[in-house]
Amino acid sequence: MKYWDNLELSAGLSANTGIRLIFAAIFFVFLLSSQMFSYAKEDSSGKEVTVKGVFGLPVGNAIFKGKSYDEITGYLKGMGINTVIGVPLDEKLIVALHARDIKAYAEIGIFAGEEYWIKNPDSRPINSKGEPISKQDWYCGLCPTQGWLRKEKLDTIRRIVRDFDVDGVWLDFIRYSCHWEVNKPLLEETCFCSTCIEKFKADTGIDLPSDLGTAKDKAKFIINTHSPKWYSWRCRQITDFARDAKSVLTEKDPRLELGLFAVPWRDGELDNAIINIIAQDIKELSYYADIFSPMAYHKMCGRDINWIGEISEYMRDKTSKRIMPVLQVMDLSGEELTKAITKTFSANKAGLIVFDMNTIINDKKQEVLKAAFNRE
Ligand SMILES: [Zn+2]
Repeated sequence: MKYWDNLELSAGLSANTGIRLIFAAIFFVFLLSSQMFSYAKEDSSGKEVTVKGVFGLPVGNAIFKGKSYDEITGYLKGMGINTVIGVPLDEKLIVALHARDIKAYAEIGIFAGEEYWIKNPDSRPINSKGEPISKQDWYCGLCPTQGWLRKEKLDTIRRIVRDFDVDGVWLDFIRYSCHWEVNKPLLEETCFCSTCIEKFKADTGIDLPSDLGTAKDKAKFIINTHSPKWYSWRCRQITDFARDAKSVLTEKDPRLELGLFAVPWRDGELDNAIINIIAQDIKELSYYADIFSPMAYHKMCGRDINWIGEISEYMRDKTSKRIMPVLQVMDLSGEELTKAITKTFSANKAGLIVFDMNTIINDKKQEVLKAAFNRE
């Protein structure tokens, strides 16, 4: 965003000279060429960097026992890893990573967590039957309009960037409730709690007939009568959180990057569940997020390896941002992991994130990852 701000400023000042407008136009063309045709991040020497990322850094794992941070980060460097997402919040570790030129990003779950259902039952979403949603396996989604919850999460992000020298923050569970990570996800419309309904009315000016007494009746009326406004309003609740998170980062340092984990569904798929259920409008989110990470768990989604590159390209076209798909290591043989990494690198120059480092170590796939990362 800062480049666009500079451009506007530059164009405004030069309105009566003409010459500076020409420079602005040249700069604009330069921007287009650098932003649209190259999605890899450049390092300080101008060289494009392909992210070879891992999620998590399990410093407590047996293989790191007795090792110093310098030794652990040296080990990562040897594997070809240049980015850690979900870094443990330990300043000495982050300093050690940076000393090896490895980027360190924090990760924070936003609208999920059973502890919130216990702490404040208002956080449990209400479905279109007017009932609180059920826990799905380990997953407990949260109502995104709870003001106290949004504030708590933003305060946590503020504290993270104040206390730790991270390169940015990745938002996880930045969506409406849905346990999508299964073969046949339950596509349940939420949230029709009183906070959501009142906020929807206030934000849109839509009034509900006074004879609608129950949440179920109100849900039915809203879906039948105002569904386009309802679905776009829901997306707005998610996008606004990303906007607020980005401004917390920018307040601290405009160079801090905001990443987010995206559900890998396209518009129209599953009755347009990416909008109507998940409420991730990636085009709108791209105004605030710097990097999108589609959770491209191809095996779980019943797809082949090429799909990882395809969904990345789809998101890149929609957002014009860097895309770093997440590859799930679990259930992949060493050969499949090598193939997935190699194919994804060739389809997506910005790079990828392997999920997760703990599984890599426990499945003894370090050598596979090392070979694949160092070959590129
Ligand atoms: Zn709600």
